[in-house]
Amino acid sequence: MKGSLVIGKIKGIEIEINISWFVIFALLTYMLATSYFPVNYPEWNETVNWILATVMALMFFSSVLLHELSHSLVSIRQGLIVKKITLFIFGGMAQIEKEVDDPVKELKIAIAGPAMSIVLSGIFFLFANVLAAAGAQAYFIVPFTYLATVNIILAIFNMVPAFPLDGGRVLRAIIWKVKGDMQQATKIASSLGSFFGYFLIFNGVFLALAGNLFNGLWFLFIGWFITQASQSSYQHVVMNDMFNKICVNKFMTENVVTVEYYVSLEQLVEDYFYKYKFSMFPVVRIGEIMGIVTLDDIKKVHKSIWDETTVGSIAQKIEEDLIVSPRDTVSIAMDKAFKNGVGRVLVMEDGRLLGIVSRTDILNYIRIHGQLYGKER
Ligand SMILES: [Zn+2]
Repeated sequence: MKGSLVIGKIKGIEIEINISWFVIFALLTYMLATSYFPVNYPEWNETVNWILATVMALMFFSSVLLHELSHSLVSIRQGLIVKKITLFIFGGMAQIEKEVDDPVKELKIAIAGPAMSIVLSGIFFLFANVLAAAGAQAYFIVPFTYLATVNIILAIFNMVPAFPLDGGRVLRAIIWKVKGDMQQATKIASSLGSFFGYFLIFNGVFLALAGNLFNGLWFLFIGWFITQASQSSYQHVVMNDMFNKICVNKFMTENVVTVEYYVSLEQLVEDYFYKYKFSMFPVVRIGEIMGIVTLDDIKKVHKSIWDETTVGSIAQKIEEDLIVSPRDTVSIAMDKAFKNGVGRVLVMEDGRLLGIVSRTDILNYIRIHGQLYGKER
């Protein structure tokens, strides 16, 4: 997420905090210190209020982090890769590298978060009771009762069957398992997600009009966020599903312009890069593809020796992440094109070059498809 800073690593998962998180952290601390405590515990002094508010806000966000960690650790156990967890204004988000391919796995991962929140709630509740029985001061007990309540609310809110909330994922997994159709399951679960989002927005407006501006705006924002997220995750699933079915040979650009290995860099720039406006050319030697050449490769050579340097001498060797077979899916091609640093892949079979698939081709396809079918939900 843009504007985030990494605060550490747990089990190989990067933990990062988004700037927006500080807003909510400050707000929560402020509200606890200046309104919740003075109203409920008027006998406490201001210093105690602020210290306690900070501690409770930190414990609250640790709870959110543990909820996300629980999702992540179960994901890892299911064989998925989790790159990072981001804490942001609306809570936490674990970034799992691939879409889950199996409803049972999805169910386990989705339940892991709320289950953690319930366990945390239980632990905090136990602490509060033990402290109360031991006759501890109220300000030792209050954080625990408060966090026990907050965690149970977190679990309940997340279990609302509105995709992409956890409950929506559980619902999707169940429909997916029963009907065997992931796309249809996602469609149903994300429609409920949009519905829930609009429901929150409606309530937000109502609350704001009734004079409760703060909570009203808060509902409005969360509702808007859920609506957006449910719609875009549905589109993402549809795209992913489609790209898992289309083969590269239906998608690639054929008749690729290649360059002979003996051509000089000066000629390459004039007769190829300026003429065709591509950012990469495959290099051919005696009828065989020997490598590729990109603008970056040329930039590494000093301009004064462009006329005496041949393309063949600076060509990059063809690595595994640069080629796909014509029967590979677009998903595989997309994965490689987005990671290999060249932004495209060569479609090759038995050493012959059949075509090219570029990142731009894929993005254009998504854009055109989005314009044609984007409204259908
Ligand atoms: Zn969750």
